[in-house]
Amino acid sequence: MPKKIVAGNWKMNTSLEDAKQLAQSLKENSHQDTSSKLVVCPPFVWIHAVSEILRESNISVGAQNCAATASGAFTGEISASMLKELGVEYVILGHSERRAMFEDTDAVILEKCKQALAADLQIILCCGETLAEREAGKLEDVLTTQLSAVLKGIDQLTSANLVIAYEPVWAIGTGLTATPEQAESAHGFIRNLLRELLGNETGEEISLLYGGSCNATNAASLFERDNIDGGLIGGASLKSADFLKIGNSW
Ligand code: PEP
Repeated sequence: MPKKIVAGNWKMNTSLEDAKQLAQSLKENSHQDTSSKLVVCPPFVWIHAVSEILRESNISVGAQNCAATASGAFTGEISASMLKELGVEYVILGHSERRAMFEDTDAVILEKCKQALAADLQIILCCGETLAEREAGKLEDVLTTQLSAVLKGIDQLTSANLVIAYEPVWAIGTGLTATPEQAESAHGFIRNLLRELLGNETGEEISLLYGGSCNATNAASLFERDNIDGGLIGGASLKSADFLKIGNSW
């Protein structure tokens, strides 16, 4: 069975004080018996403070990006190994905001994934279609292209180092959640693609998260589907009670 995971992408939100209070509240109110693995992904600059607060907890810390290279003259970049030193366990790569606004092409994302693995970070690899692509019937082509770029380019991917997040771009931050049927259909397609490219055993073990306006009200109806193993949560991860409720949606 794939691990159940709920990951919060805080994006470029929170002050230092907000981030510390959110982490503290999550730590105090999460229970050891939460039905899923919880991960929070604060902005880079708050990772150290958040990691310190969550050190003795069952909540893991992730990053929202990493550099495509290991070290050197790359002003402003943060390497995967630097993140590892801060206690980071996961890194979100291929998020649609980075694909659309920061030139994260499939080739760049592949390099970032290689760096993440070299630093022993678990990858949360995002994929998903725009509304125009969905309406043009290109959903499966888009998912195949985005995922194959990484899955065919690296041969040591397993359920221990790879999580996939299906995030339809039209659902992110819009309040338009994919229906459980739409999400499960895309997840079923991704599951088959993983089996084909990584073998049945690995393909069946990798956690598939849904992302896109997932919240405390709709999470349970999504997570009850066969191939939906949790969520990548944006806006609703900024409220401790909502995030914890999503984490307990099974
Ligand atoms: C995201 O950006 O990964 C996301 C899922 O955002 P939201 O939940 O706010 O739609």
